[in-house]
Amino acid sequence: MSLQNLKAVLGGALTLAMLLASPASSQTVAPAAPPATEALGRTVLKDLVEIDSTHAHGSTGAAKYVAARLIAGGFSPEDVQVLIPADHPTKGNVVVRLHGSGSGKPILYIGHLDVVEANRADWTYDPFILTEADGWLYGRGTIDMKGQDTAMIASLIRMKQEGYVPKRDIIVAFTADEEAGGDASGIDWLLKNHRPLIDAAFVINPDGGEAGYKKGRKLYVAIQTSEKVFVTYQLEATDKGGHSSRPTAANPIYRMARALSRLSYYAFPADLTSTTRAYFKARAPLESGQVRVDMLDVAGASPFTDAVARLSGQVETNIMLRTTCVTTMINGGQGESALPERVRAVVQCRVIPGEDPAGIEAKLQAVIADPSIKLSVYTPAQLSPESPLSPEVVDAVTAVTKSMWPGVVILPDMSAGASDSAFTRAAGMPSYGVDGMFDDLDDGRAHGRDERISVEAFNEELEFTYRLMRQLGG
Ligand SMILES: [Zn+2]
Repeated sequence: MSLQNLKAVLGGALTLAMLLASPASSQTVAPAAPPATEALGRTVLKDLVEIDSTHAHGSTGAAKYVAARLIAGGFSPEDVQVLIPADHPTKGNVVVRLHGSGSGKPILYIGHLDVVEANRADWTYDPFILTEADGWLYGRGTIDMKGQDTAMIASLIRMKQEGYVPKRDIIVAFTADEEAGGDASGIDWLLKNHRPLIDAAFVINPDGGEAGYKKGRKLYVAIQTSEKVFVTYQLEATDKGGHSSRPTAANPIYRMARALSRLSYYAFPADLTSTTRAYFKARAPLESGQVRVDMLDVAGASPFTDAVARLSGQVETNIMLRTTCVTTMINGGQGESALPERVRAVVQCRVIPGEDPAGIEAKLQAVIADPSIKLSVYTPAQLSPESPLSPEVVDAVTAVTKSMWPGVVILPDMSAGASDSAFTRAAGMPSYGVDGMFDDLDDGRAHGRDERISVEAFNEELEFTYRLMRQLGG
């Protein structure tokens, strides 16, 4: 993206920043979805939570449920396709299409149907029964991401029943196996086997999005354009070994320890992308004092070393500034009284999109500075480019966010982790993580015990999703 485009995109964020500068302004009640949509949303969320779609059970049951709901809501069966890989019968997906009037390439929404395991004994309530208590909805998947799936289903049905015809098709793919440990990634399979069915100008993935609040105050809706690429290396040091009574300088545990120690002191150079510069610029007004000054500084063309150093002191900002590599596993030695013959360490890197993993590997080799330690790829990189911060998407998200929550900032974002957008980006479709379901930044429970979403945030998500689909649909 050119600097001009970037400035054009950021014009909106500055206005919002000014709005936020009057912090005392109380946040107004957001517009609500019609009662029928809220009722439908609650039913669908309850049903989806109560269909166990952990990897052990698979997502075919949930996919068939979603298809039946959409058909009952007015979609014709040929526009709702349940697609199940022959070799993974429990890992079903469903793709639905709301036909447009034919101008422009379709938009694709994606949402995963699988959830991570939940242990009943660790939870206050049964994780596979939707439980309402004190304004909260508890259940596995409520925020990751059956709540968002439900909002997409309810919005599709609402648009269908209103007779709304977008300018271009809106496709939604509900998929299997996004969470780690799955063996049948639905989005990967659909891209490889049913590309024409899901081909689109761009992708919206609520899973990669984030709407954050702190201490009861709604702060931002993120537009996630990129994710760090993960690539894992193995380091191996070997020696002929011998009796522990005859130590030598070649001890591979010591050599490995020195190499890892050098790595522990190394920081990759700061590398800001269009997205992370825009992130710091839009994030700065939410901060105060030196942090605000430093964020504005690193958003500029040539950041001060001191500002980078101070922001690098915090995990949250450090990971936005640079590639990181960290040792995650080590094992070595074979006996209490034997000189070690082999030591292996695993180093995982999270690479800024656009950086070449080959360059990271060469740098690691230089930092460990011991040619006798063999470095090899343990898990190769799944490259995923940064999606351009498209004015079309930024404008739509900004307009809808302002219509719902005046004063909430739009925050361009790069995730340190990965989502299914890695597949759609790698397949050439620009992908944006956008979600309007506000989650407490100090109490994130995705994948955790007592996962929950507030009734208010869930209901607002129903309206936000509908408005954004219509805004983007034209
Ligand atoms: Zn998720």
